[in-house]
Amino acid sequence: MENFKTCPICFQVPEENIYQCFAGHIICHLCILKVHEGLCPQCRIPYGSTKIRSLILEQILDTQQFNCKFKNFGCERILLRKEVTKHGKFCFYNPNLVPLCELMGYKKCNFLLGLVSRAEIIAHFENAHNCSFKCVPKWVLVIPGSVLMEPLSRKRKATSSPGGPTGTIYNILHALVSPDQTETGPLFLVYGKVDKSAGLISLLCIQIWGPESCPYPSVMMYKAEMTLTRDMASLPSTSSAPNPILNNVINPFPITWKLLAYRIKEAVSILKSIPVNVSIRLLEESRFGVSIGDSLLVRITRA
Ligand SMILES: [Zn+2]
Ligand SMILES: [Zn+2]
Ligand SMILES: [Zn+2]
Ligand SMILES: [Zn+2]
Repeated sequence: MENFKTCPICFQVPEENIYQCFAGHIICHLCILKVHEGLCPQCRIPYGSTKIRSLILEQILDTQQFNCKFKNFGCERILLRKEVTKHGKFCFYNPNLVPLCELMGYKKCNFLLGLVSRAEIIAHFENAHNCSFKCVPKWVLVIPGSVLMEPLSRKRKATSSPGGPTGTIYNILHALVSPDQTETGPLFLVYGKVDKSAGLISLLCIQIWGPESCPYPSVMMYKAEMTLTRDMASLPSTSSAPNPILNNVINPFPITWKLLAYRIKEAVSILKSIPVNVSIRLLEESRFGVSIGDSLLVRITRA
């Protein structure tokens, strides 16, 4: 039976009409349109003007179960023959799609990058992950230091969005940014997570949509420069008295990292070992976030 479950010409599951030549060789509805000079590819007998359906095989295959094309990647779905292509297009294990949310720890979120439009990405992040979209015409996103530090000071585990990772690792930051409000502006995700047991905050910028060679941005490369900065002028102080909070506090700022704005395919591996890591202790001991001038600047440039 297994031999008859695929077309002998294209080796795909015949999802629609199945035809046969006068000698009984079968062929799928797609391959019969492409045969050379109307001859059966197997026995070279012409099909003739009336194509012969193989109704009996169609009916037999209608009762059979088929595996997903991405079974080898882990998909265990059992399908009818008519469902194979349709399912594969949106299969979670399709290597052309990136389960970004799952990679960020949202285990129950099945959202996949790769086939969705820019507007759908924005809507998903806004609705499912409390992540607002910001247009940054000057290519710089400013995140107040207090926003970065606030989740660390909460007693219980914190996560910036319900359903996210829990325990000692959790997400603290997502921001969707584009320099361009129009439908063609590249879209970047600025992402941060805390690993409390390692004592680190990890920061990353991923280009999750781009107009160049859709759906995956690949032609244009972008860089992201991340800077933790302290604006000395805005430090809270009481006129001439020495600042009680910031007196004798180490001041290692600004700290800058330059990295690529990773493309989503690269993000699959980068998310597992994010290259930019900041010591939580350093931030806490230097009272980062206390002053209103403390901020994380994310500057995106063309590479
Ligand atoms: Zn075929
Ligand atoms: Zn034939
Ligand atoms: Zn599948
Ligand atoms: Zn999601």
